[in-house]
Amino acid sequence: MAQPIPAPRDLPFQGQIQLKVDATDTAHKIFRVRQTIPVQKSGAMVLLYPEWETGSHSATQQVAPLAGLIIHADGRRLDWRRDEVQPHAFHITVPAGARELALEFQHLPAATGPKLMSRDMLILPWQKVVLYPAGWFIHNIGVQAELAMPEGFQFATSLETAQASANHVSFKPANLEELVDAPVYAGRYYKRIELDATPVRLNIFGDNAAALELPLELIAKFKTLATAVPQLFRSRHYRHFDFLMSLSDVLPSGGGVEHQESTEINVSANYAHDVGEQVLMANLLAHEFIHSWNGRTRQPADLWTPNLNLPMRGSLLWVYEGQTEFWAHVISTRQGLRSLQQSLDALAVDASLMSNRPGRAWKSLQDSTIDAVYMPAKPVNWRDWQRREDYYAEGVLLWLDVDMLLRELSSGRKSMLDFAAVFFGAEQNTRTISTYTFDDVCKTLNRIAPYDWATYFKQRLQAHDDRYLLDGLKRGGYRLIYTDAPSAYFTLHEADLGGMDLSTSLGLVVGKKGAIKSVAWESPAFKAGISLGARLVAVAGQPYTDDLLKQALREAAVSKQPIALSFEADGDTHEASIPYFGSLRYPRLERIPGTHDRLRDLLLPASSTQ
Ligand SMILES: [Zn+2]
Repeated sequence: MAQPIPAPRDLPFQGQIQLKVDATDTAHKIFRVRQTIPVQKSGAMVLLYPEWETGSHSATQQVAPLAGLIIHADGRRLDWRRDEVQPHAFHITVPAGARELALEFQHLPAATGPKLMSRDMLILPWQKVVLYPAGWFIHNIGVQAELAMPEGFQFATSLETAQASANHVSFKPANLEELVDAPVYAGRYYKRIELDATPVRLNIFGDNAAALELPLELIAKFKTLATAVPQLFRSRHYRHFDFLMSLSDVLPSGGGVEHQESTEINVSANYAHDVGEQVLMANLLAHEFIHSWNGRTRQPADLWTPNLNLPMRGSLLWVYEGQTEFWAHVISTRQGLRSLQQSLDALAVDASLMSNRPGRAWKSLQDSTIDAVYMPAKPVNWRDWQRREDYYAEGVLLWLDVDMLLRELSSGRKSMLDFAAVFFGAEQNTRTISTYTFDDVCKTLNRIAPYDWATYFKQRLQAHDDRYLLDGLKRGGYRLIYTDAPSAYFTLHEADLGGMDLSTSLGLVVGKKGAIKSVAWESPAFKAGISLGARLVAVAGQPYTDDLLKQALREAAVSKQPIALSFEADGDTHEASIPYFGSLRYPRLERIPGTHDRLRDLLLPASSTQ
């Protein structure tokens, strides 16, 4: 029988962990760790290396990068034994009378995983460099952390600094729950910009000095964002808030991670000079800031866990992520990070994506909330059929409808703004984490506008067709249409995808040199035998180009002659004759004549800044 791993209990923990991280070895990209743990009692003890990460809602932290673990108790070396079933757990026996454990180990980031270090920048997620004793809620375990950085690096984090000298910083004690929610960004090229007096700060780290030259107009928009979001939620839950932003082509780009008092935003090194990327990433900044309220301070009850090694459950991710992205659309439009037209075009892309999800026939929106647990955080072959993480885009459409329905039920007097103030602003300006359930969401909505919200949500969460999907657009005065020319936003979306997006026409996304990046399930291209990994080589006998394929789609719509394609797959060349006559189809939103423009009331009311 395996030795048990003690379950976490809400008990006091005597003393505090001292954690020293040496991040100076940027050549080998190694984090060297020394830590001491005060002994609570002698005998059997289990040390845990974190496995579940709040940003991914998933067991994404691997234990393989942990190496070199050596443990001493009051100077005597102890044997440890890894748990055979849970390899993140290490069993030890603490000798009688021992007062302190001393640990040393390294974190060796996987060469294929996201990079955490370059010679000019580093990202330190504390969960990768700490072991902690099983048996306690981590909010009871105090940690005093220190970080040694390379020569010439400056740092930013939401942690409070106790003492900083050149290349070395000691932080004030925090509990382990707070520590892992407060990563450090550090680098050679750094700039700090005050966004709001509350204070909200933008900390930018670049691959080089030029990467830091953000346009003044953009900074001005970030400032209005920093002011508007706390107003929307009528509260703030941070002592100070730090945007930690990397502008890098070396470290991961194009993503964010939420925290209560800070957020990680990773964009490309050219972000400051790329207006398209700024428009595409507008929602990301708003989204991650909004998570301080929806996600970190108020957490779904089944997603919150007392330590970092118990499973999280995501049944309310359609609130956590879906509503956060809904607010991101609203805020980024109201504060001018996107124009109204860009937002309508972005919503059209979401609406089109979700309208073309044949996978809904077998997989409900509710089922997709479990995706984080078992689907790897990378692309799936058949996204529209497997529908991974649809709680983002379908969640946006759902909350859009809730907003429109609240307006309808209250003759325009109530909206999601009232929900935001009540649900996220109740505990004014505290950092206390509070959890919520499905019933809490329904009850709050019911206080704003009485309705059978539980049935309303269950119908939509369990739906196997799209009968409710576009209700929010319709109530808002819009419908989804397709035209033969893309919107400017759609072109940005294609650049982001890295390919020409014909998924709602022929059923393909085509990358560089005809490479097939995705095929829509049972689309005309699918039925013609084209699959992921194939490469288009000719259109009607002519060497393949994107323009030639688009031209062929337009011509087939007139001539009603099948489209002739040649493609390479599995080492052979194949011919396909595709009877598709629907031309090019690009999503847009169109006003329904004679209706009230409620969507504009939400996205850009007259009092807004634009
Ligand atoms: Zn999110």
